[in-house]
Amino acid sequence: MAIKNKIIVIGLDGATMDIINPLVDSGRLPAFSKIMREGASGKLDSTVLPITPPAWSSFMTGKNPGKHGVYGFFKSKTDSYETEFATGYSIRAKKLWEYFDKDKRIALIDIPLTFPPEEVNGYMISGMPVPSRESIFTFPPELHTELIREAGDYMIDIELRKLTSEHGIDALVHLYAYTEMRMKAIRYLINKKGPFDFTMVVFRGTDFIQHAAFKYLDRSYAEKHRDEVKKYGEIIFQFYEKMDSYLSEIMQLSGEDTTLIIMSDHGAGPLKKFFYINRWLGKEGFLALKRGVTVTRKGLDFRKKSVEGILKKTGLEFFNHFIPTFIRNIHLPYFIPYEKHPSGIVDWKKTKAYANLTWTDGLIKINLKGREPDGSVDEGDYEDVRDKLIERLLSLTDPDTGTDVFDAVYRREEIYQGPYLKEAPDIIALTKNIEYSYRVTLHGEEIFETPENPVPANHRMKGVFMIKGPDIINGVSLENTKIIDIAPVILYLTGHQIPGDMDGRLVTEAIKEETLKRNPPVTVDEETLQIKDDKEVDFNAEDRKQIEESLRNLGYMA
Ligand SMILES: [Zn+2]
Repeated sequence: MAIKNKIIVIGLDGATMDIINPLVDSGRLPAFSKIMREGASGKLDSTVLPITPPAWSSFMTGKNPGKHGVYGFFKSKTDSYETEFATGYSIRAKKLWEYFDKDKRIALIDIPLTFPPEEVNGYMISGMPVPSRESIFTFPPELHTELIREAGDYMIDIELRKLTSEHGIDALVHLYAYTEMRMKAIRYLINKKGPFDFTMVVFRGTDFIQHAAFKYLDRSYAEKHRDEVKKYGEIIFQFYEKMDSYLSEIMQLSGEDTTLIIMSDHGAGPLKKFFYINRWLGKEGFLALKRGVTVTRKGLDFRKKSVEGILKKTGLEFFNHFIPTFIRNIHLPYFIPYEKHPSGIVDWKKTKAYANLTWTDGLIKINLKGREPDGSVDEGDYEDVRDKLIERLLSLTDPDTGTDVFDAVYRREEIYQGPYLKEAPDIIALTKNIEYSYRVTLHGEEIFETPENPVPANHRMKGVFMIKGPDIINGVSLENTKIIDIAPVILYLTGHQIPGDMDGRLVTEAIKEETLKRNPPVTVDEETLQIKDDKEVDFNAEDRKQIEESLRNLGYMA
C-alpha cells in the first residue's frame, strides 16, 4: 500500500538546539523531549545567508536561492539602486504543496513570504510581509472574519512594533497575545475545518524574543545589570516552555498517527559587533560619496557652516569680498541638500562595489556597467574587482582581537545555481560565526562598533530539525540535514514523487528500512524550469512604513 502520512509542521523561527538541549536536559521541555526520544532529530543547516526570507523560501521549494530567487528581506528594483520587499511573488519556483495530488487538503498558517495568499485546497493565512489588517491575507478571504468571530482577533507582525527590549513587560504581553492567536487559528482550523493531509504553522516569537532578550544570557551583561536580569533573565526559556505546551496540544489535536516535524529556519546566538560595510568599502576605495549631500529620514538636515562657506556653496562667493572677516567666520546653520534614498548620495561614477543600502544583510554588488543604473565597472574588469574585494574581505581583521572578521566569502556562482542566479548579489560574506551584524550606513568614520544597547542576538547557520511518526526511526540523531531536505521528506511521506530538480535529498537515515523497501522513493524529471518575472505587491506608503518599522525594530534594517 502506498505511503500516505498525514503531516503537521511546526516552524519555530530562529529556534536553536543551544537553547533546547539544556532545557530538555533539565526536564523543562517534556514535549520536545518526547519527540527527540521517539523520533529523529538534529541540527539543520540554513541557507547562506541564514536569514528568514531565503531560508523559508528554500524550505518551501526544496531548492537553493538561485532556483527560487529570494536572497534577502529585500530585492533590488529593476534599473534602480532602491529596493523593494521580497514577497510571496518573489518565490518563483513551485512550493512543495503545489506538487500535492489535487485531493490533499492543506492548512498553512503564518509561513514567512506567503503574502499575498494563494488559492489552495484548504486554507492559508499569509505570513510576513502582510502590509495591514485591512489587506486580504487569508484564503479564502472570509477566513479572516471567521477567525475574528471564533478566536477574537488576529494580530499581524507589524503590530508587534513594541517588541524591543526597552518596552519590557508590554513587549512580552504583546508577544504572548500574538503567539496565542496563531494557536487559536490552528485549533479553529483543525477542529472545525479538518482533517488535513498537510498542516503547517510558523511561530515567529522564538526569533523575536531572542533578538530582544539574548543579552540577558550574556554573563558580562548580567553582571552589569543585575536587577534587569533578575527580572528578565528567564524570558527566552519561558517562551520555549510555552512553545512546548503548544507542541503537546498540537500533538493531541492532530492525533498520534500524524507525522510531526519541528523545524527552524536558522539558529541564534549573541551579537558581538556591528560592521559598517559601506564605510569600509569607502575606506578601501570601492565606494565614493558625493560631497556635501546628506540623507535623512525626517527631512532637511543641517550643519553649521561659516558665512564664507555658505556663500561659496550657493555660488555667491563674490560677496565675500565685501564682508568683513569676522562676519565671514560666523557659523550659521546651513541646510544641506538631501536625498530621500541613500543611493542619492553615492557618487556612482566612482563606485565599484556597494552593499545594498537598506538591507542589513551585507550582500555585496559590483557596480557593473549595463546592469546597474549608473554602472562604473566594465564587464571585462568585473572578475578583477570581485577578486580584489574578496581578497580584502578575507584579510580583514578585527582591530580589537586581531582575528578574522569573515569565516567565508563566496562568489555567487559558488553557492547558488539556477535561473535566478543573475539576480543574486555578486559577493556573499559570512562573518565569523555570524557574530558581526552588518550596518549599511554611508556617512561616518567608525568601521566597527560594539553596541551598548544592541539588538543583542544575531542568527546562526544551524537551526533545528525534529521528526516523529509511524515511518520514522526512534531516537536517531541526525547530522548534515539541510533546510532544502525537508520538502523531499514531506513529499515522500505523503506518497508523492520527488522532483529531480529539487536540491534537497530525502533524509533516508530518519526513515524506517521497511518503509523505504515497501515504498521505494521515486524521483521524476521536472519539466524545464520556467523563468518567471517577479511581480510587485502594491504596498502603499503607509504599509511600507509600517513594515520597515517592524523590520527596523528587529534590527534587520539600517
Ligand atoms: Zn527567521
